[in-house]
Amino acid sequence: MPLMNTKAMFDKAYNGGYAIGAFNVNNMEIVQGITEAAGELKAPVILQVSKGARAYANHTYLVKLVEAAVKENPDIPIALHLDHGDTFELCKDCIDGGFTSVMIDASSKPYEENVELTSKVVEYAHKYDVTVEAELGTLAGIEDEVQVEHGAEAYTKPEEVEDFVKKTGCDSLAIAIGTSHGAYKFTPEQCTRNAEGILVPPPLKFEVLEACMKNIPGFPIVLHGSSSVPQEFVKMVNQYGGKMPDAVGIPEEQLRKAATLAVCKINIDSDIRLAMTGNIRKYFAEHPDHFDPRQYLKPARQAVKDMVAHKIKNVLGCNGHAEETVKVWNEKYKK
Ligand SMILES: [Zn+2]
Repeated sequence: MPLMNTKAMFDKAYNGGYAIGAFNVNNMEIVQGITEAAGELKAPVILQVSKGARAYANHTYLVKLVEAAVKENPDIPIALHLDHGDTFELCKDCIDGGFTSVMIDASSKPYEENVELTSKVVEYAHKYDVTVEAELGTLAGIEDEVQVEHGAEAYTKPEEVEDFVKKTGCDSLAIAIGTSHGAYKFTPEQCTRNAEGILVPPPLKFEVLEACMKNIPGFPIVLHGSSSVPQEFVKMVNQYGGKMPDAVGIPEEQLRKAATLAVCKINIDSDIRLAMTGNIRKYFAEHPDHFDPRQYLKPARQAVKDMVAHKIKNVLGCNGHAEETVKVWNEKYKK
């Protein structure tokens, strides 16, 4: 199975009441942890690369790592996706360089400019059978180069989505319904606290999602900033010398609900970072004499794999859907 775009994945996910996990990759251990979990659970998966990841690891290294994962997991549908492309040139570079899907995020620009830039990327991408994700609305938080202050976020306007999708021809749409980038998704002022003193975030705006669904029935929706920031990892980080007070994410049951609706792609990055960092900190604390990177990256990779397996089974619900996705791909979309 070669790399594929997201069409067959989203077809099946939309109608099947599940979502595909889109996990950010930056190095070999992350690629391995994610794809080993997907492989064992027979789950389609999206590996996504941000501008920051390309700057860190280099485009060629990342593409080759993903190609290796495809070779090692021949039965699993895998898409290689650009996360938060902010210019036509960056999207074009990735399309020319082997990506099967790109995001053009012009959501910070005025509506008409967003339409114009997204259309330009779609026109180029579709020539090469590459799918395009666009965005309407603004998420709060920090992700690599994307940074929006709390309070400056804006929910997607459901009355714009139909016009936007029609005009641009994009293949999926990221919307803002209260998710947020990074490990500090909400300020303490935005939350309440439970009995253990852990922040409880405000619920997602399902009414915005449902209004969007009504205006573009059958169209795949994407949620960014959807790590749940598991408190076990936050505790681990803090227990072994880290300092991440009040790190908080999106409750998993709300993501599960979104996956049963029109949400076909759920982005998870911070949870990978936390799983790795928590476990590396623990390893260093318990083995102060060890210095072989393989010693501490091995449990870190295993932690990524375990976390991704949990997401696939209990949050996304995409386990066991690889075969049907491949079938639809072969029959309907393969060129
Ligand atoms: Zn994002």
